[in-house]
Amino acid sequence: MFTSIAGRAVVVTGGTRGIGKGIAAVFAGAGARVLVTGRDEAAAKAAAAETGAAGYVVADVASKADCARVAEAAAERLGGLDVLCANAGIFPEAPLADLAEEDIDRVLAVNVKGTILSVQACLPLLKASGHGRVILTSSITGPVTGYPGWTHYGASKAGQLGFMRTAAIELARDGITVNAILPGNIMTEGLATLGEDYISGMTAAIPMRRLGTVAEIGHTALFLATDEAGYITGQTIVVDGGQVLPESPDAVS
Ligand code: NAP
Repeated sequence: MFTSIAGRAVVVTGGTRGIGKGIAAVFAGAGARVLVTGRDEAAAKAAAAETGAAGYVVADVASKADCARVAEAAAERLGGLDVLCANAGIFPEAPLADLAEEDIDRVLAVNVKGTILSVQACLPLLKASGHGRVILTSSITGPVTGYPGWTHYGASKAGQLGFMRTAAIELARDGITVNAILPGNIMTEGLATLGEDYISGMTAAIPMRRLGTVAEIGHTALFLATDEAGYITGQTIVVDGGQVLPESPDAVS
């Protein structure tokens, strides 16, 4: 049995939909006090009510000022911060040949810079907690696999892991761990926009023959937040129903 995390203060960036909302619901269900963030206020308000979160902050992770406001809100409304789930991310599709400079900049700004700025803003609070946890949502795409249309996205998700490894070393002395979850294909609002053909193609490639749920990512994050996971840092956990395992399509037929 793990030590309870009831009462812990948690921020989930991009917690207003999809995986982040699932993470928020799992933490709130375990008795943690959660703030969710996102850019759309109506979605944020609805997500906070639906997940049982303590509240929400409208903020863009690509903005240093917004990240500072999120940390201020955690200090004021939660009295500090024990766990930061740096989850906000975007995955617009474009083949390399057609990739516009603005597409590259936006994906890197949200997925990489947004991760760094979110963690940086929360450092004093995480240090003060004495057992700070940073949990990144990376992906199998980039760190482990590739998929046409996502060169920039794959680079951003691998970039998060480069950040994680040095941050884990720098923050270890403050008792802060930094780890990353690498989801496979998880059924979310964002993934649904990719269409039925994408979803059925992925389902066929997954040994477990189904997409993952947001709760399955939430429970992985919850484990990384426990006291018992306190000696794990700078590591990745793939949560993908076995998707990265087959050597060929025959292996899952
Ligand atoms: P989603 O359903 O589109 O939700 C994305 C969330 O991030 C929303 O809450 C969104 O709210 C927020 N967000 C987007 N841009 C933001 C910004 N600039 N600042 C603050 N919040 C922002 O996506 P998802 O499928 O749950 O993906 C969440 C994370 O998991 C991403 O990092 C993604 O790369 C990763 N991931 C997903 C899958 C999958 O299969 N779904 C697989 C691997 C990795 P607003 O739009 O209101 O800001």
